[in-house]
Order: sequence, then C-alpha cells, then structure tokens
Amino acid sequence: PRLHVESDLAAGVVLPLDRAQANYLLNVLRRGPDDPVLVFNGRDGEWRAHLVQTGRKGADLHVSERTRAQTPRADLHYLFAPLKSARLDYLAQKAVEMGAGTIRPVITRYTQGERINMDRLRANAVEAAEQCGILAIPDCPEPEKLGPALAGLAPERLLVFCDEDAPVSDPVRALREAADPAQPPPLAVLVGPEGGFSDDERAAIRARPNTVALSLGPRILRADTAAVAVLTLVQAVLGD
Ligand code: SAM
Repeated sequence: PRLHVESDLAAGVVLPLDRAQANYLLNVLRRGPDDPVLVFNGRDGEWRAHLVQTGRKGADLHVSERTRAQTPRADLHYLFAPLKSARLDYLAQKAVEMGAGTIRPVITRYTQGERINMDRLRANAVEAAEQCGILAIPDCPEPEKLGPALAGLAPERLLVFCDEDAPVSDPVRALREAADPAQPPPLAVLVGPEGGFSDDERAAIRARPNTVALSLGPRILRADTAAVAVLTLVQAVLGD
C-alpha cells in the first residue's frame, strides 16, 4: 500500500500513525512487520517503511530507504464546473488518475450544487494520488469564475474545451491539428456543468486564442463522463 504523510522523509525517521491509519494497515490490509509500506509526502519522493506495532492498536512506520525520487506535478490543468458532492468525489479522483496536476473548479452561470467543499476535494486528490501511484500532490486552487480562470491560463497553454455543440468530427485529428504531438503544449481541459455553458460563456471561451472546441461524439455525456473521455483523449494523443 502507499500512504501519504505530512512529515519530512529520510532514512531512520519514525512516523507515528493515527488510529485510522494504524487500523487500516494492521486490520484492513493485515500488514505485519515484514510487509513494507510505501510512504510519500509530495516533496521527498517515495520511501519504503516498515510497520512496528506499539501496544494493542497503535503502530509506527520506520522509514528505511527511498524507492523513487520526487517527480514534478503534472502540467495538465483540469477546469470543471462543480457537480453535486458525490459526483465531485468521483470526478476529482478520475481527474487525478487521468493525469491532471491542477484541479480547478470554475463557477459558471448554470453551475449547480452547494458551495464546494475544498477540503473534501483536496482529500480526494490525495487519496487518488495514493491509489494511482503519483508522488506530487495535485494542486486544488480555490474556485473562481470562468472569466478569471480563463484569463489565468498562460497564453501558450492549449485549452481543450469540451463543447457538445461543436460539430462531431474526429477528436484525435482535431487535437493533432491544434497541437504539435512532437512538442505538445501545456494543456488545460474545460468541462461544463450539468446545465451547460451559457451562450456568452461559450463565446468567451471560443474567443480565447489557442483553444480547441472538441466534440466527444453525438451523445450528451454527463460532465463526469466527459471528464474521463476528454482526459483519456488528451493523454492518448498529447500526453506525457
Ligand atoms: N448542454 C448539455 C445538455 O443539453 O444536456 C448540458 C451539459 S453536459 C451534461 C455537461 C458538460 O459535459 C458540457 O458542458 C460539456 O463540457 C461536456 N459534454 C457533454 N457531452 C459532450 C459531447 N458530446 N462533446 C463534448 N463535450 C460534451
């Protein structure tokens, strides 16, 4: 298993586990002193550690050697209009698994759902990092309106705008034409809310230079389906 910890990591460091972590490793995964656990903190790479039980329910992790050097955060920005919290959990996890290094909620005119719980979003991102084996913790900046979010993107960054109104064409060719696969630009992906983008939002998005409006086919996808579809595409055609 891989565990995200806050503390600095080096050989010999002893990491006291909280009750939930100790219970998960000892009783859920039934790990013993000879079963290594991989730990990472998002800064010092990945390290091998061993469980040392302390008392009936407690355990520490003794860090021994580094297994992987730290890798930088992926340069793929995932911009999305928030969904209801259950689906937001799913969407945050899929975005991380599919290579997003920055997950930014954008507020659009038809955005539904209550205020976004950013702690929950960040916790989902860390959990997804543990599960999918990345070492850099995705950045989850505070939500902002669509306009400032677009203005905040560096001009050289190619924005892939998921537009269900775009003519259904070959998305692979559209991506290849928009970017040089040999030197893929830094990417950003934008998916709208369940209620779609308003006309003036759509016009503002299309007006941004270095933006490709991508159809994901003739059917209307749920926003979280569109997320997985477009991230799969951009990774396959332009990914690292
Ligand atoms: N306009 C949609 C409708 O009529 O129901 C509502 C938006 S759709 C549920 C949510 C988002 O997923 C859209 O804003 C778009 O970003 C993306 N999306 C859904 N289907 C798509 C498609 N076929 N091609 C490209 N993007 C799509």
